[in-house]
Amino acid sequence: MRVSRATFDEVMFQTYVPAQFVPVRASGSRIWDSEGRDYVDLAGGVAVLSLGHCHPALNAALKAQADRMWHISNYMVNEPAMRLAQKLVNATFADRVFLCNSGTEANEGALKTARKYASTKYGEQKHRIISTTNSFHGRTWLAVSTGGSPKYTKGMGPVPAGITHVPYNDVDALRAVMDDDVACIILEPMQGEGGMYPGSAAFLGAARELCDKHNALLIFDEIQSGVGRTGALYSYMQKGVTPDILTSAKGIGGGFPIGCFMARAEVAEVMQPGTHGTTYGGNPLGAAVAETVIDIVNNEAFLQRVLVAEQRLRTGFAAINSKYNVFADVRGEGLWLGCELVAKYDNRASEFMKAGHRNNVVFLTAGNNNILRFAPALNISDAEIDEGLARTERAIAEVVSA
Ligand SMILES: *Cc1c(COP(=O)(O)O)cnc(C)c1O
Repeated sequence: MRVSRATFDEVMFQTYVPAQFVPVRASGSRIWDSEGRDYVDLAGGVAVLSLGHCHPALNAALKAQADRMWHISNYMVNEPAMRLAQKLVNATFADRVFLCNSGTEANEGALKTARKYASTKYGEQKHRIISTTNSFHGRTWLAVSTGGSPKYTKGMGPVPAGITHVPYNDVDALRAVMDDDVACIILEPMQGEGGMYPGSAAFLGAARELCDKHNALLIFDEIQSGVGRTGALYSYMQKGVTPDILTSAKGIGGGFPIGCFMARAEVAEVMQPGTHGTTYGGNPLGAAVAETVIDIVNNEAFLQRVLVAEQRLRTGFAAINSKYNVFADVRGEGLWLGCELVAKYDNRASEFMKAGHRNNVVFLTAGNNNILRFAPALNISDAEIDEGLARTERAIAEVVSA
């Protein structure tokens, strides 16, 4: 059967506006389309492809597990799932892991756990969820309502109750909404979609302190920041603030759909048989890939190299900006950088992204369509970074001179 980019418009929900080319093959940080054109991938499948496309070790893990056993259900244990959980427990603050299939599900489960913990220990009135404006936590009801973008729930109400949003990095606003009825605060240690804002030490520290004071749980949504993205296995390790529950997805599967949430034993134990579940969560295919990702990423030299690559990208962005004056700010952590456009190009980030496609490079947008977002594979080579930067520069030159 022949399909083309036009087929998308004819037979699929128009919830996305995908690029005009059709990618058919990819390897490392390079993508090829149906016409044989190649693209440098500086988007990493939206911070998912932690080891690039078709990494040999991940392909080997997936193929070996595909020949052994695909699915067994949660009526039985499986070895890859237990190994993955053991590796996460060894590497983090957590004692227990719940495996699911996506980031949204991880947050949904984490929020349910926090409410269950609060009601079990302190009573039903303790159910409030504190989140931040412009945060992104996924698309199910609880996750999307917890996220701070009303546009994602517009026309679909009523939304779940008991959720309060405060501006990100605003310590006073956070203090002002806290009371003993708060079950949890959920935060991205750095806001990604919302505009690439690193969480300040003061804000994350205040969240920890306020949770301790009010017997609330601190949830870190590390779905985008986790698994080496910022140069640490999880970003909380660099911030010096330890959450009670952590959610992980995207990079942990390196492109295979898997997510998880993890917690200390005392928190996890409120979730008893029947309180939560998922058919595919912990399936052996995803777990076999994810445990291989963790083996590779949880390595000092690997994580150190992320920070070296970050500097190479930042140097390149500074050089581009000295010629074209398009960036008002470059910010982020590790291989997760946002270039905020100057006022002249406000709301025009997607024009740059499209110019990128014409110049054979893929990057993303963020914020209010005013930020170019870069989240390449963590193992991207210097040569690929340089080529990606050169193509990005050509794209910027094209928009600027238009
Ligand atoms: C992507 C993302 C999610 C949602 O993950 P899905 O796998 O798309 O469900 C939640 N939180 C953050 C911070 C994310 O970046």
